[in-house]
Amino acid sequence: MPDLSRYLVDRTLIMLSNREPYEHRFVEGTGGERAVEVRQPPGGLVSALDPTMQATHGVWVAWGSGSADKSTADAQGRLRVPQTNAYTLRRVFLDTTEVDGFYLGFANSSLWPLCHLLVQHFSYRDEFWERYQSVNAKFARAVADEIQLADKTPIVWIQDYHFGLAAAMIREIVEPQLLHQFWHIPFPPADILRLLPVDVDEALLRGLLGNDLIEFHTERYALNFLGCVAEFIPEAEIDAETFTIRFEGRDIEIGVYPISIDVDRYERMASTPVNTALAERLRSRYAKNDCRLGVGVDRVDYTKGIPERLRALRLLWEQHPEMRERFTFLLVATPSRSEISAYRSLEEEMVRGVLEINARFRTRTWTPIVLVHENVSAELLAGVYRAADLCLVSSLQDGMNLVAKEFLACQIEERGVLVLSRFTGAAEEIDGAVLINPFNIDGFVEGIRRAVNMGDGERRVRMHRMRTQLRSRTIFDWLAAILSRTEAIIAERSQETGAA
Ligand code: UDP
Repeated sequence: MPDLSRYLVDRTLIMLSNREPYEHRFVEGTGGERAVEVRQPPGGLVSALDPTMQATHGVWVAWGSGSADKSTADAQGRLRVPQTNAYTLRRVFLDTTEVDGFYLGFANSSLWPLCHLLVQHFSYRDEFWERYQSVNAKFARAVADEIQLADKTPIVWIQDYHFGLAAAMIREIVEPQLLHQFWHIPFPPADILRLLPVDVDEALLRGLLGNDLIEFHTERYALNFLGCVAEFIPEAEIDAETFTIRFEGRDIEIGVYPISIDVDRYERMASTPVNTALAERLRSRYAKNDCRLGVGVDRVDYTKGIPERLRALRLLWEQHPEMRERFTFLLVATPSRSEISAYRSLEEEMVRGVLEINARFRTRTWTPIVLVHENVSAELLAGVYRAADLCLVSSLQDGMNLVAKEFLACQIEERGVLVLSRFTGAAEEIDGAVLINPFNIDGFVEGIRRAVNMGDGERRVRMHRMRTQLRSRTIFDWLAAILSRTEAIIAERSQETGAA
């Protein structure tokens, strides 16, 4: 594991993300009294960035989303993080109209579908955009406060598409030594971005150009970003060779840094006695004789291609009766963003699809699809991934897809096949998966058949290769690459100023 402690030694890292690393909630205590509970929201990003903050003692600015968040922070929304006290969490509170317009509206009903090229789900209201601007400004002010309070040289790291305007807004108030931003979802080509009203697309790009460095998972997303800047910001000078943009007298670097997971942690979780027993139980129930166990793990989101996957499974069992009782699919589907109607309809479509398939193909001893329709902990998922013979990832578009990497990390017996959509960031990085196109249903069916029928030797060779690749590119390598690049940019700049 790279030594992260060598970075950020004389600096205060100010992180900005929508999700907070610790959330306080009111719960009912054992005697019926009101108690406060703290929890770390699920998700790979928080668990990767928290250790970095713990080590560097910076400040994390985020939305205070928990019911007890206000009462556990001071008047500015600040608190030292629980247990270790190692860094400051600064919470920004949003009212319902702000959450509706900024988070559910512009971020998740406008930008999310556009960036994933799923224009049929795109919706835009002026109200969304107004809230997105005002909420970005609110977070930018909180970050600027923290820059002014920092006792060491501040560096700001913004996470994701919720804060497309924050960098330029922060820069207007105060200049930190370096501002950079990771865009965790795909970036669309100009023809798609222009579905936003004129001025909105441009304002978004100008906002992002407030950064010194913008990070994407893949070169394709980075090129799309450069293409959009070329189209909408005429005065920006683009150097497509070095991936730099000259804008308002500054150089902005565009970098490619595919995110990963804490591979050791997943391997450890998969190897616990509890998960060894769970994997055995799952296999003796669903992978008896020559039956294969397939898994899918998704938030119920239209980007994940769940209806497409169900259609492919139905066709598989319809056209290839020999596949009945030879393959069981365990679908872990976590409800998500159910305030948005497209997500509620998708939930219903998924449940209906599973019931229909099961009613049609079920036998006395076999159920084709087992649906786990709830959020499952990472610990438990590790056991499920370990038990599986194949994992189906069918995203229509996906920035990276961490499920694919988690599956690889947990495949201790190296028996599984990864069936992976070409339209994931992971597919551009991982060599050894069976690639499918979820829009091509016949090819998708063939991909599943190929995975089910693949011999043990080929499975082991492929899985071993993919696991070796994964081990050399963990979340800590990702962090080290980004932190070392930011240090290099600072060093290059101070040389230039020194030489001037
Ligand atoms: N996940 C989870 N419990 C569930 C379903 C998913 O913890 O019941 C986690 C999963 O392990 C992964 C993340 O949610 O770490 C999903 O990340 P991914 O990149 O695959 O998709 P995203 O949801 O970010 O679009």
